[in-house]
Order: sequence, then C-alpha cells, then structure tokens
Amino acid sequence: MDSVINPWSSTPAVDIDRLFSEFGIEPVEAEASALSSPPAFFRRKIVVGHRDYAPIIEAITTGSRFNVMTGFMPSGYPHLGHLMVMREVVWHVEQGGSGFISIADREAHAVRGLSWDDCKKYGALYLECLYALGFEGTAYYQSENEVLKDLAFEAAIKINFSDLQAIYGFTQETSLAHADSVATQVADILYPQVVSGPAPTVVPVGIDQDPHIRLTRDIAHKMRWFTVLDQGEYISVRSKNAPLHAMDAVEEAFPGSKRYEGHLDIPGADIFLVSEQVRQIEAANGGYGFISPSSTYHSFMKGLQGGKMSSSIPDSLFFFDEAIPDVKKKVMGSLTGGRMTKEEQVKCGGEPDGCPIYLLNLFHMVADDDELLEIRSACLGGSLLCGTCKKATFERVKEFLADFKERRESVRHMVTE
Ligand code: SF4
Repeated sequence: MDSVINPWSSTPAVDIDRLFSEFGIEPVEAEASALSSPPAFFRRKIVVGHRDYAPIIEAITTGSRFNVMTGFMPSGYPHLGHLMVMREVVWHVEQGGSGFISIADREAHAVRGLSWDDCKKYGALYLECLYALGFEGTAYYQSENEVLKDLAFEAAIKINFSDLQAIYGFTQETSLAHADSVATQVADILYPQVVSGPAPTVVPVGIDQDPHIRLTRDIAHKMRWFTVLDQGEYISVRSKNAPLHAMDAVEEAFPGSKRYEGHLDIPGADIFLVSEQVRQIEAANGGYGFISPSSTYHSFMKGLQGGKMSSSIPDSLFFFDEAIPDVKKKVMGSLTGGRMTKEEQVKCGGEPDGCPIYLLNLFHMVADDDELLEIRSACLGGSLLCGTCKKATFERVKEFLADFKERRESVRHMVTE
C-alpha cells in the first residue's frame, strides 16, 4: 500500500513532508499572498497546502464564478475539530463562492455503522453549526440526493478495486458499501459542476482527506470525453467516447487540424489553450467538461492532552454542546508548553508553539493578531504563567460557546432532521 494516510482512521497519522514531496501538494503561501486581506487561517499558516488553488484566487479577485464544497460525516456530535473546515467554507462563501455541503450519511452508515436516524440527528447539528457561522448555499444528505447517486454510479464506472487498494489500502474484507461510499464522495466533489455547470471548485479539507481529492481529480479526468496530449509538433485531441457531433465541433474550432478516426491533430498549438477550449466545447455539447477540483489542506490542531485531537479521546477536545463546567475542566486540565516550576517559567519562559492552549487561541479563540502576538511574547518572556493563561483562554472559550449557542438557536429553523 503506497498511501500514507487513511481518511477513515480516527487517529490519522499524516506525514506532511511526504505529502508535499510525493503527492504533489504545494505550499499555499504564494497563492494566499495574492489576497488583499488574507484570513487568519492563511496568515497564521494553519492552512498549509493546496492543489490548483490559483483558479480560486483568480475567481475571488476578479469576481468570477466558483464553488466551495466539503462534506461532514455525521458520526457524532460536532466539536472543536470541525471548526476550521467550517470557517474555511464560510469564508469562501463570503468571498463570492457558491457553497455546497454534503452530509455524508451513506458513508457514516457504511463505514461507521450508524443508523439512518442517528445520521439525520447528527447531520442536522452540523448544518446548524454551519448556518450559525454564516454558511449560505446548498446542503444535502447523500442518501436523499438522486442526482448525486446517479453521478456516483457514473463515477464508479471509472473506479476499480486496484485504485481503492492502492489509495486506501482496501482489502478483500472491505465491504462493497464502503467502496460505494468512495464513489459517492467523488460525486460530492463533482456535484456542484453538474448542477450549475463547470466552474473552479475548492474543497477545504484536513490533510488526511487528500486521498479523496487525488482520486476525484483522476476520475474527473476519466469522465471527460477528450484527452489532450502534447506530441511535440502538434497537439493531439483524443476522443475516449465523444459523440460525433462533439468531435465535429472540436474540428470546427481548430481550422487546419487533421482529423483521424478517434483523434484530431492540431499543428503549432498551445496545449493549455487547446485543453481549455476542448473542455468548453465538451461542456457545451452535453459532456461533463469538468474543471479539475482544487483543494486546500489545513494542519491539525493538537488535542488538549497534547496528543491527537479526536472524538474517541474526549479529553482532547470539547463538543459544542458540552456543559460549561466540563469544558472548563478540560481547558484548565490541558497540557501546556509551560515549565516545571513557576521560577523556571519566569526565568526561561514557556514554549507556546507546542502548547495546546496557545494553539487553541491561534486556531480559533483570538481573532486579533496583535493580541495573539502579545500572548506569545508574554509566554516566551516568562511574564505570563500557564494558570493565568488557561483561565483567560477558558473565558474566551466560554464567550465563544455562549455566542455560538445563541446563533445556533437563531438558525435552528433552517435545519430539518
Ligand atoms: Fe501555553 Fe499560555 Fe503556558 Fe505559554 S503561558 S505555555 S501559551 S499555557
């Protein structure tokens, strides 16, 4: 198995350097720097990588059409670990993107064995959180979306078991429903382009979800009618299963091209221009004409206990519906980057970069960069002690949860179970 990550693991082990070097994820700084007012998740380097994010930046800066889509598996109560993706989606919607949210109930049922009723119950809570944060757009449950199911079937034609074995490490014991849920996720990512026409689509995800992105980009390409190849002196447009009228339209668009059975050769052309023109012809003639989906990858916040943040380790995070005294216990009991004694901390300072409390502030609880910098400097300089810092952080968490609760109540009517 060559995959370094398993999206279904409750404790994903992610080798970021290997993802960059072997799987072609690019650092996102250059793209993010083109934004006039980058959000905190870019400024603070929480989102670390991307695939093909440039078309999204262009759409944001020129005001052209783009989509933002992601999915949530409704396998439990929403918690702190879900907040980053939610905020990324909402930010892209605020920048003009059409928002799409899939509640992946078929996946939760197939992979985690959740009942359909539980899927509906948890799904409604995720949607409530998203609307409370400002999400606008299309939200659906996989099991209720007939267009999605048809698209998943079409996508499944292009997926074979060797792909699933190579990408996810599927074995002979893996159920067919699990394999089907993979095709459904591919369909989720391509769905916005099917219902509203081809457009750049960004999928903000945790870095452990990259296998889905890689597979979807591959399948999007395979579902296209044409392949465009650079043959040196000419560009070859090869038909995989294009109807005759589409091939005729391509030939018409490139005067001077030579037509053969199943392919068309265009002398002296630029492959990027030809590819884009052929894609548009495909879309205009009834084909999918998919634009390869883009993605951004955020790093994971350390759990409050210092290890991985996971709902299977309840002390590593807090749930949005958790009682405040319990949240307090978790925050005040968190591991820190502090020293063994007060004297040592005053003398040497703390270590904020590996401190879950500092990361909680950096990821979510302190919006103002100057305030965050003050916390960091005071920690490093030894003037801030961990007890004081945790108390202040808990007050921020309490305020956030109270405000979030109110917002959720005000949007509850938008969600039906
Ligand atoms: Fe972490 Fe705050 Fe302690 Fe610094 S002072 S190590 S940021 S808890």
